[in-house]
Amino acid sequence: MYYIGVDLGGTHMAVGVVDAGGTIIAKAETPTLPQRPYQELVADMVKCMYTAMEKANVKEDEIASVGIGIPGVADRNGVVVFCTNLGWHDIPLREEIQKHINKPVFIDNDANVAGWAEYAAGVSRNTDTSVFLTLGTGVGAGIIINGKLWAGRHNVAAEYGHIIINADNGEKCTCGKTGCTERYCSATAIIRMGREACEKNPDCLLMQRCGGDVNKLNAKHVIDAAKEGDAIATGVFNRYAEYLTIAVNNVISFLDPDMIVLGGGVSHAGEFLLNAVRERLPKYHMFKTLPYAELRQAKLGNDAGFIGAALLGINQ
Ligand SMILES: [Zn+2]
Repeated sequence: MYYIGVDLGGTHMAVGVVDAGGTIIAKAETPTLPQRPYQELVADMVKCMYTAMEKANVKEDEIASVGIGIPGVADRNGVVVFCTNLGWHDIPLREEIQKHINKPVFIDNDANVAGWAEYAAGVSRNTDTSVFLTLGTGVGAGIIINGKLWAGRHNVAAEYGHIIINADNGEKCTCGKTGCTERYCSATAIIRMGREACEKNPDCLLMQRCGGDVNKLNAKHVIDAAKEGDAIATGVFNRYAEYLTIAVNNVISFLDPDMIVLGGGVSHAGEFLLNAVRERLPKYHMFKTLPYAELRQAKLGNDAGFIGAALLGINQ
């Protein structure tokens, strides 16, 4: 049997047909155009599923289930309760999809499904318990406990980015709270810290890299300049790495998993970033002589979204 997965993003949706091991058989994509009625969006989504099936040369009766990763929260009835990027509120997504295709439909948060993909087909494949952290515009997470994706009693677990790590004078977060983890550990955080450094040091290398316009500074500028040994960029990177280490240590202290996987844009810094965190971790450990979670880079990249969504069908 095969599984269909959809990574439903704000600008486009990626659809894939995968086998039970998470190997991609075929993929397709189409614009999301989120402003339109959701029924039209779902009709396009299903059309895209059939395109992917055709490319894969897989028939509908060979498909076991359909999974959707959404940048939001769905309840156990397949209703999207909340999805800011799409402007969705209480959308009966499963019911609408099943009007077009008669398969079991599973819906979960995009970071949860990316974590599930890394467990089912990626870097954390042979672990029992792992935590996936995606370091992008925000910080998302996916928790796998004893080989099962942990969504929480109300499907809102793993909102790791919004756990407060700085209650006093914390940075304001998009969620309304202040001092959330994602204000310090996301790509957005590196950019903010980089801009602060540029303002203090207008002649610095980072300022050159962004062409003198701090609004054009991105996380890669900072990481690349730090890799080259530039002192100011290294200062910014070290500050970021310290926060990320605290976030990783918080996961270890709370859950003690086998592995912590870093994904998302910032994780492309690779071993440079992983080693910076690994070096800093020991000083935060409670039990210094005991072994602790391995820290690894995600390996499925952007495809993790639809692979994990597809493989929600094997999490049941
Ligand atoms: Zn927050």
